[in-house]
Amino acid sequence: TTTPVTVTVTGAGGQIGYALLFRAASGQLLGRETPVHLRLLEIPQGRAAAEGTALELEDGAFPLVRSVTVTEDATAAFDGVNIALLVGARPRGPGMERADLLEANGRIFGPQGEAINAGAASDVRILVVGNPANTNALIASAHAPDIPASRFTAMTRLDHNRAIAQLAAKLSVPVAAIDRVIVWGNHSASQYPDISHATVNGRPVTDLVDEDWLASEFIPRVARRGAEIIEVRGSSSAASAASAALDHVHDWVNGTGERWTSAGVVSDGSYGVPEGLISSYPVRSVGGEWEIVPGLEIDAFSRARIDASVAELVEEREAVRALGLV
Ligand code: NDP
Repeated sequence: TTTPVTVTVTGAGGQIGYALLFRAASGQLLGRETPVHLRLLEIPQGRAAAEGTALELEDGAFPLVRSVTVTEDATAAFDGVNIALLVGARPRGPGMERADLLEANGRIFGPQGEAINAGAASDVRILVVGNPANTNALIASAHAPDIPASRFTAMTRLDHNRAIAQLAAKLSVPVAAIDRVIVWGNHSASQYPDISHATVNGRPVTDLVDEDWLASEFIPRVARRGAEIIEVRGSSSAASAASAALDHVHDWVNGTGERWTSAGVVSDGSYGVPEGLISSYPVRSVGGEWEIVPGLEIDAFSRARIDASVAELVEEREAVRALGLV
């Protein structure tokens, strides 16, 4: 489409925002035909960094960028928004209890949900990146009763991409040879990267890797990759998270074809995940909507891991219910 699309990024002054905005400006979010209005939402502490990013975006002279706006006002930021990338969140501080973390994020994602409900375009699509992403998406959705719950999604695409990359390296094949990898559950250490349905050049991957590698190397490596990046790089992953956010939105808008990916989407009860939870599933994007891949056989090994991650999502939902946030 050549009609300009309004893209709002929260936490726009942060590390992920910095990487994300330049690629969105260059057309890698929606395609090289689609002009964008970029709205950068920040809190007062992040305002100057976002202003700096806006100046640099101007200096990029991106042909697709129609405007760049920096604001601290969620109502202004989400007025007419088509694509909302909710990146800014409250990180867990030293000694912070989980309830404190959820409450602090409730104060961010509740009002943002209300502002989206009040002003968003009818086709709005929301991706929550800021952690705890699944539950933050649930909070925002609960505050946006007029927007279908299916429009609120949480990012597990980075976990998915990490899983593909690890598998491709193990098998010495290009990443494009791999399909049908799944990340289930919560975007947290409990996530389950599942290769029981995965294929390499159309052949089952399970014939090529042993269970020992799977349980003792692959799954922990993917789940712990964020910590590994911090150890090596000295700060958390930013460009790869931004890249995954672009992949998620690009696929959502443009479709996946027959290929599968993973996204945190509202559960319809499939695969034993309680309805209404925002859980990562195998998905395809068809006609601009995520569809959960139906009818997969789940073996006992997978069942136990999916259930453990979903149990954590249930606990998080109970905690935010107790706080009156959903
Ligand atoms: P980042 O841009 O690095 O990270 C932002 C969020 O993304 C965090 O919640 C972080 O979770 C999450 N995240 C980081 N890495 C990954 C990953 N690999 N996969 C998925 N999610 C990931 O943080 P910065 O501190 O650089 O920037 C945050 C900005 O947000 C600040 O400028 C702050 O001012 C702003 N902010 C804005 C708000 C608003 O607009 N209303 C509200 C709150 C903050 P984790 O902490 O677990 O790494």
